Amino acid sequence: MPLNKAIMTQIREAARLIIDSKYVTALTGAGVSVESGIRPFRGPGGIWTERGEPPMDGYKRFEEDPKQYWEETLNPDRRSGFGDSITAARPNSGHLAFAELETMGILKSLITQNIDNLHTKAGSRKVLEIHGNRLKLRCVSCGKRFPREGFKITTLPPHCPECDGIVKDDVVMFGEPIPRDVLDACQTEATKSDCMIVAGTSAIVYPAAGLPLIVRNRGGVIIEVNPLESELSKLSDIVVRAQSGESLPALVEAVRKLF
Ligand code: ZN
Repeated sequence: MPLNKAIMTQIREAARLIIDSKYVTALTGAGVSVESGIRPFRGPGGIWTERGEPPMDGYKRFEEDPKQYWEETLNPDRRSGFGDSITAARPNSGHLAFAELETMGILKSLITQNIDNLHTKAGSRKVLEIHGNRLKLRCVSCGKRFPREGFKITTLPPHCPECDGIVKDDVVMFGEPIPRDVLDACQTEATKSDCMIVAGTSAIVYPAAGLPLIVRNRGGVIIEVNPLESELSKLSDIVVRAQSGESLPALVEAVRKLF
């Protein structure tokens, strides 16, 4: 769908704000991945809409019985196909646009709520995965992360080769604290940022939702890229009302013209 005149005006205004900023960051959510065929959790077509929300005490249950957690994780009958859809997914033009902004030296870091690794696959280098990465495992004791592929599971639960702590999915479960290293890095980035591009997220889930507010409260600007109105819309300086895959390449072009 071609971008209409109103959206092109929004994009040009957003490009101007980006050029006038010194430390641009991005925050992305499920909307950015939908165009790569990754199913959202909530909303129409959502995995949780179809299968029910996962238990709110998931992390507590893991802590109480990590062996059972692993037995459930590895049980093929309980798999939703979500992991396979992530392995097969390719980055879309929205992901590539963010990677390009970073290469141009404009985007300093990208914070994502997505767990699908697609920003990294697209070439983004400074990526902070606030909810973890589906392709990794993490030791709950020392926090070290390991690629899921090739990690040898000889006992259940598997133990950390570094410290012998228990290993789980890197993906943050309900009731699980966001790993301290990532949370600290996100807050540092938001504090440094005078412009944050928020794409494909309704920004209602904390702590991610608090990050644009940090930028805003310190006098920075917010650019929202979202086809739908969100909680953040009224706090944003510019709203680009379009899908990120359609609008972000045009935004990069507009930035390039002013660069
Ligand atoms: Zn460890």
